[in-house]
Amino acid sequence: MHYNLEEDLQEILNRIEKDNISFKDKTILVTGGAGFLGSWVCDILVKQGANCICIDNLSSGRFENISHLKDKPNFRFINHDISVPIYFGITHHPNGICIGDIKKIDIVMHMASRASPFEFQQYPIPILKSNTLGTMNALGIAKAHNAIFFYTSTSEVYGNPPPERVPTPETYYGHVNPVGPRSCYDESKRAGEAFVKAYELQHGINTKIVRIFNTSGPRIRSGPEFGRVIPNFIHQAINNEDITVFGNGSQTRSFTYVVDEIEGFLKIIHSEKARGEVINLGNDKQFTILELANIIIELTNSSSKIIFHKLPIDDPLRRSPVLTKAKEIIDWTPTTPLREGLKKTIAWFKDYEETINYKK
Ligand code: UDP
Repeated sequence: MHYNLEEDLQEILNRIEKDNISFKDKTILVTGGAGFLGSWVCDILVKQGANCICIDNLSSGRFENISHLKDKPNFRFINHDISVPIYFGITHHPNGICIGDIKKIDIVMHMASRASPFEFQQYPIPILKSNTLGTMNALGIAKAHNAIFFYTSTSEVYGNPPPERVPTPETYYGHVNPVGPRSCYDESKRAGEAFVKAYELQHGINTKIVRIFNTSGPRIRSGPEFGRVIPNFIHQAINNEDITVFGNGSQTRSFTYVVDEIEGFLKIIHSEKARGEVINLGNDKQFTILELANIIIELTNSSSKIIFHKLPIDDPLRRSPVLTKAKEIIDWTPTTPLREGLKKTIAWFKDYEETINYKK
């Protein structure tokens, strides 16, 4: 089976267009637009006839994810780190660079940040910056242009909740270690949310926050130094290498296929009811990491053996969202079963693994 990206993009378009959602002629800034999720958003926006401006410093984003868009008249790539100020529609500003010819921005989607636990050790400062200073700069653009502001937060704001708080509703405040190995990400995303609420309160900005749970699919970054669990296991399985389960594998995660996730993002941006809301987007069917390893071995017909490594410090034991709010506000539930999403992701890996640059 070969992976068919166009089919998945069309599926997202069908789902949103059924609800009359169109971004045609809107100017939309996507920070982190060359990343895994950001590049899917750019693809849809370009197809719908929006003017899509992708900002990415290519630290974890990959140009390959958006290179097919670079010559489209309604796509623009700006290689820039959003934790450094950038201004649109003016030609001079003492604090940062200016893009004078883009006069009006309608929607800002702030999606830039490294997100892999492996990178929390290597790049804690850029991670802190992109979710604090970067969020502030992106909010500044929304304020200047009276734009809708969409922020991709994370289930990590909940940290490692006690068993009775899993599945986790948006009202749970979190159980987060402020000085642990994951704190650069968890705490900066929490601060990012506080920035969003502050700009909403003080400047009346139309904001929407999504808390993303584990999401996977084609274009997710893989590589020995920063792989998330699904790309790691797929890479190991298709190469018949040992599958590295951390701990005893009894920790759980719930995985959303990228098509479901992007549909949710775009419905939230479009929804007036979602204004000012914080909404969990994920899948509520939990799997243990050991179950996941076995499913991937089966789907790849691999001869890999499972080996056990030490569980990383502060690795959440259970993770799953309460999805009532997403259902009520945007009538959204994830519909792609884990195995179906994995089959497509595996097909994509087999097609593209050769071209993946493990240095990035
Ligand atoms: N994990 C694992 N082996 C790997 C990578 C990850 O067992 O090679 C585990 C990890 O300890 C965690 C889960 O899989 O419990 C999900 O890890 P991921 O890196 O995808 O991100 P997280 O959900 O922890 O943010």
